[in-house]
Amino acid sequence: MRFDRGGVVAAGLALSLGLVTAACGDDGGEPSTAPTAATTSASGSTQPAPSRPDGRALDGKTIALDPGHNGKNGANASKIARKVQIGNGSKECDTTGTSTNDGYSEAAFTWDVTQRLAKILRGQGAKIVLTREDNDGWGPCIDQRAGIGNKAKADAALSVHADGAAASSHGFHVIEPGPVRGMPASVVRASNELGRDVRDAFERDSGFTPSNYIGDDGIDRRTDLGGLNLSTVPKVFVECGNMRNAGDAAKMTSAQGRQRIAEALAKGLGNYLRG
Ligand SMILES: [Zn+2]
Repeated sequence: MRFDRGGVVAAGLALSLGLVTAACGDDGGEPSTAPTAATTSASGSTQPAPSRPDGRALDGKTIALDPGHNGKNGANASKIARKVQIGNGSKECDTTGTSTNDGYSEAAFTWDVTQRLAKILRGQGAKIVLTREDNDGWGPCIDQRAGIGNKAKADAALSVHADGAAASSHGFHVIEPGPVRGMPASVVRASNELGRDVRDAFERDSGFTPSNYIGDDGIDRRTDLGGLNLSTVPKVFVECGNMRNAGDAAKMTSAQGRQRIAEALAKGLGNYLRG
């Protein structure tokens, strides 16, 4: 879910009350051009376009994928509540994330989408680095999540989330970093390009419309997320939809819907990485 700009809902309290947290807490381009079928030569004759097989289009690229939250964060409330430095302040190590009204958790959703996404990208030749190995533990903390992409010198990093907003709110948004002390301007610029490519592909192919409650045409800029502030590689978050909205939740709880999300994200990453 989306990360609170201010305080973070105390995960343990929320759990003990049987509540679902309402927001993620912190951290918790160009439209791609479809390959043209033909080009026109200087002489005016039509020639077949050179094919660019997508099969290994991402050979040599490293992509860090960060499935937001973790399945046992709620059972480790004191551990995930510990503060970590995020470059311009401090924030909780992690949060529990949100869920649908029927109890499908954000952590399970992000894990499943990321697995699907990793499979697609590996099939295109990319090396995938994940920030967690399963959905049965807690953490890692947001600073570690950024550090994993940094250490891998990832060509792009994506943190996958879903939001927990008012029931009438719907749609996706991409969160891109703003200028933060310590983050090279080149990383901010590259992240913003990545964000636009992910936004364009997600709007076109995911089945979700841009958010009707936050950001501008599906993009929000934040400087309070450790996962972004600490990144030294191009990175964005995607909030795929609002789990409290019936229409969005129906898509997110469906395997077919999650596959469509993963395919849209793969296209956005691919468009960015292929330039
Ligand atoms: Zn989240």
